[in-house]
Amino acid sequence: MATGVQAFHPQTTVERLDELGTLRRHTAWAFGQRKENPRCVCHGSVMSTRSSATSSAAMLAHRLLDLLLPPRCGCCGVDVTGAAALCLACWRKVTFIGEPMCEVCGIPFEIRPFGRAVCGDCLARPPDFDRARSAVLYDDTTRSLILSFKHADRLTLAPLFTAWMRAAGANLLEETDVIVPVPLHRWRLLSRRYNQAAVLAQALGRDSGLKVVDSLLVRTRQTPSQGRKSAYQRSLNVRGAFALRNNCDGHGEVIDGRRITLVDDVFTTGATVSACARVLRRAGAGAVNVLSLARVA
Ligand SMILES: [Zn+2]
Ligand SMILES: [Zn+2]
Repeated sequence: MATGVQAFHPQTTVERLDELGTLRRHTAWAFGQRKENPRCVCHGSVMSTRSSATSSAAMLAHRLLDLLLPPRCGCCGVDVTGAAALCLACWRKVTFIGEPMCEVCGIPFEIRPFGRAVCGDCLARPPDFDRARSAVLYDDTTRSLILSFKHADRLTLAPLFTAWMRAAGANLLEETDVIVPVPLHRWRLLSRRYNQAAVLAQALGRDSGLKVVDSLLVRTRQTPSQGRKSAYQRSLNVRGAFALRNNCDGHGEVIDGRRITLVDDVFTTGATVSACARVLRRAGAGAVNVLSLARVA
């Protein structure tokens, strides 16, 4: 279990839409285990200076909030104590991805192969990204968590998810100059109100101190859902669907020779991130890696 997760404890939440129409949820946390001032989960800025008086008042408010709205497991909904976002039973069901795995796409292997650890898919059709890593397997347990994060405004799961992603992608993040989220089409962004990949990217950038550019790529056409499509159909579905945003200043500075890490929530066949990587490579990126929260086995 990632011990860092225990440090986050959402207290109060304020929402606003930014200029891209992205829902920003500002959540103050910081009681109990943290000594520094509360910070916004979205961008890390200090929200207020805490004196002992305000701290006591906030603690009282926090306890009251817990009484009124007791924290619940993000997966099964049972009450949980303290800052945990998952109950112990659900934690135990999460499958974290580790070695052995394909050194290119990160799909886990059951046994360590002899020689170079590259899966058949990557040997047959090398992807357009350099390496991809994911934190957890996308299965029954994580699916409900991720869907609630994606569609039901459970943005308070972001610190838990990015703690997992930082652990899985530590090597990638060490070799990263810029973090870029996979974009949503503007109509989908309007209906969903926020891009879950951008929320993860911003949280990763804040925690790692890396630059995040969430306006670099744009989805130029609305693509049908990738669900139930074969790998080939998925690749066709997103071909040519991404481009550099026309009015994004400083493309050269951000891309030229830079090591870019694309961030997405779920890696299925890699078709979407490959399409994004192709655009970035053509524009001069030095390396394009992918860090996702979950991947389909
Ligand atoms: Zn649970
Ligand atoms: Zn592979």
